[in-house]
Amino acid sequence: MTGLSDSFQRPINYLRISVTDRCNLRCVYCMPETGVELMSHYDILSYEEIYTVVKAAAELGINKVRLTGGEPLVRAGIADLVSLIDSIETIDDIAMTTNGILLARHAAELKDAGLCRVNISLDTLKPERFRQITRCGTLKDTLEGIEAAQGAGLAPVKINMVVMAGINDDEIPDFARKTVTDGWNVRFIELMPSSANEQVSSKLVSVSDMKKRIETMGKLEPSNIEAGNGPAKYFRLPGAKGTVGFISPVTEHFCFQCNRLRLTADGKLRPCLLNNDEVDLKEPLRSGAPIEELKKLIARAIAGKPKGHHLAEGTGRKGRPFSQVGG
Ligand code: SAM
Repeated sequence: MTGLSDSFQRPINYLRISVTDRCNLRCVYCMPETGVELMSHYDILSYEEIYTVVKAAAELGINKVRLTGGEPLVRAGIADLVSLIDSIETIDDIAMTTNGILLARHAAELKDAGLCRVNISLDTLKPERFRQITRCGTLKDTLEGIEAAQGAGLAPVKINMVVMAGINDDEIPDFARKTVTDGWNVRFIELMPSSANEQVSSKLVSVSDMKKRIETMGKLEPSNIEAGNGPAKYFRLPGAKGTVGFISPVTEHFCFQCNRLRLTADGKLRPCLLNNDEVDLKEPLRSGAPIEELKKLIARAIAGKPKGHHLAEGTGRKGRPFSQVGG
């Protein structure tokens, strides 16, 4: 447990790290078709620099880390970073969010390096539609990644589906059925507005609507699968081994229980995904700042964590794409 709290008395114990802004997919809700301007390799933190930040954060009370991106598996030697973080004694949970495309070839080495679990993004079970949503991916690769993660014991494997009206919402029952037939833990996520694609941004399906559609398949019984205070609410369909989770960043935000900080690939600490305030750590890291100085900067970012975001007011979201700030 951490002694670290922000100015709204929220305990802060979780750091999400974007290890790269590069991605091997171009999902329609996340990136513009033309891609985004990429950071230079010089601007991206090295593994040693990331390790130093995690060490400083751990000394302040952070004990959970998630690696994300961009796509974390496109960064060479990512298992080495997992090992470095795993060597920090007080970090007791290392997770990864991935599109799963490259997971089949990395799952076992990641597990050996100390990765505990993975969330895998998957928005459709139809091969043709997978290609349309990701603009370039192959469904089979992600399905093989899911199997490999299960086989390697990266448990629990959670499947994240971003639901979009008229694009994939007809598959809500198919994903829910997977919790019964295959024991999947599926999380249905509300689409957040993004500067990546104004057209897709208007395709929000609310969690209450998703829930109604699943309840036609059977009664959803509450069922918590995680001890922490993550954003999802979990349920089970009758006879299901897996769970149905809902994440509602837009219609019912969970800012009051947010325990996170985010580190961007270029070394900025962000107290909130949906707010552009950042504290730079790269420059102090590269000019040899001692760990006590980094701890002060991290504490400053935490002190500046806003009370909440304003998506529900329809003010939209401007600023860096999710691929850069670690969605
Ligand atoms: N490449 C990895 C992946 O696909 O999981 C990690 C990065 S991706 C930006 C992280 C998560 O953000 C994914 O689950 C993705 O679906 C989600 N995401 C991106 N844009 C979103 C949006 N506009 N609304 C809701 N979720 C979004």
